[in-house]
Amino acid sequence: METELLKEKPIRQGNTPARTVYDLTNDVAGFKIVFVNVFMVGKQQPGSRWVLIDAGLKGSAARIQREAETRFGEFNPPQAIVLTHGHFDHVGALSELLNIWGDVPVYAHPLEFPYLTGKSSYPPPDPGIGGGAMAALSFVFPTGPSNFGDRIQTFPSDGFIPELPDWRVIHTPGHSPGHVSLFREKDKILIAGDAFTATNQSSVIDVVTQRKELHGPPTYFTCDWRAAKKSVKKLAKLNPHAAGTGHGVALHGKAWRQDLQNLAEEFDDRATPSNGRYVRQPAKTDETGVVEMPTPVSYYVAQALALAVAAGIAWVVWGRNR
Ligand SMILES: [Zn+2]
Ligand SMILES: [Zn+2]
Repeated sequence: METELLKEKPIRQGNTPARTVYDLTNDVAGFKIVFVNVFMVGKQQPGSRWVLIDAGLKGSAARIQREAETRFGEFNPPQAIVLTHGHFDHVGALSELLNIWGDVPVYAHPLEFPYLTGKSSYPPPDPGIGGGAMAALSFVFPTGPSNFGDRIQTFPSDGFIPELPDWRVIHTPGHSPGHVSLFREKDKILIAGDAFTATNQSSVIDVVTQRKELHGPPTYFTCDWRAAKKSVKKLAKLNPHAAGTGHGVALHGKAWRQDLQNLAEEFDDRATPSNGRYVRQPAKTDETGVVEMPTPVSYYVAQALALAVAAGIAWVVWGRNR
């Protein structure tokens, strides 16, 4: 059966929850919280060891805990939490979960640290980027910084986390400076975070209906489009068999695999917006956070309007004095 036909809520069959449209395999479960996905890696049976990937929206800790208990039993916190990046919709429930679960290691890329440890806000979203209401409304999205202090640790330098020994951490910057994806070589399963998405995240209608379509990273937050392109090329080269992304249903089957190759090839036309604050020039960032930002397009629009108004006033004054 096509996985798309399954309902989002796990269907209980005996003690084994059936696959959902967000699952990648029976040991890589996914689920959607309003509009963002969270993944749980581990054998779905009470007491088994598991790892949480991303931490959803603020206020979703109870839901995440419930989903975890359904799969891994009660009083069984994860071995670790891995953050693909620190945007508000990927770390929202983290503080609350750490309060519930206690001393669980949390991993993130060092270039994501400034936004997770209170040092820097993310470059502001670009609501003028076009593409839909979600993008237009992005100016209300929080950019942090979040501050999880010393609860966050960096990935080991070899790219392998002790709690997820089969998975390689791959730096895939562009959408955010320290964005990472996770890849399991043995069955070519990819958790891509927001490096690319499985629905058009700019469109409210597509987000609500979860219409399946391969897209580049969510446009409004992406602050380096050249890096984002390189990252998609890097992931396409891995030839993943299935992928879960931060937004949209899981991607299975041959057709999307070819489409990922196409997206990598046609990234400039398909993914990079024609205009926008970070399109020609990226936000410059380093391990301290944002260093320099391109002037927003709205500044030039305001400047042009101001010049036009000034010219109009000058023309009226000149006309009167003739
Ligand atoms: Zn994001
Ligand atoms: Zn996201």
